[in-house]
Amino acid sequence: MYKLKLHKNLNPDKWQKFSIKQRELMIANELNRAKNWIEKKDTEEVKNCYERALELLDLTIATAKDKNRLREYLRLREMMGKFYIEKRGDLKFNSQLFTCICTLSKEVSMLDKKLLEILACPVCKSSVKLKGDKIICRKCKKYYPVKNGIPVMLVDEAKDLKEKDYA
Ligand SMILES: [Zn+2]
Repeated sequence: MYKLKLHKNLNPDKWQKFSIKQRELMIANELNRAKNWIEKKDTEEVKNCYERALELLDLTIATAKDKNRLREYLRLREMMGKFYIEKRGDLKFNSQLFTCICTLSKEVSMLDKKLLEILACPVCKSSVKLKGDKIICRKCKKYYPVKNGIPVMLVDEAKDLKEKDYA
């Protein structure tokens, strides 16, 4: 059985239940996280983000059924590997990769229950709820924004929840 080291609550069966869009969105989300660490010059965290993105991409490759899509994934895998080894810390290259994934899924604006099930608050790691364009962590009393369909689960982007958000 395909064992994941970094995403312990994921496996190929579970992964295949997500739509193609959702899978790509999750990879894009890791790159988005990496961008934040690149800006802070924390290369160790950038490395972690890329390792998670690579793991998800490998899982996507292992379970891809569409040959054309698979070709795109393999191309992306090569680019991502290059970044991981040679370009870590290069914002421009990171955003190129990000755009690549987003153009695979032209309608990356889907956020639903299944995706939220595996997203967790970056601070307290508890599960989150989507309300409008806010991803809410009740435990921290904070919310994270959704920008262009991508959940931005970054500590710095967290904003205080208002009374009405609890409803
Ligand atoms: Zn939290």
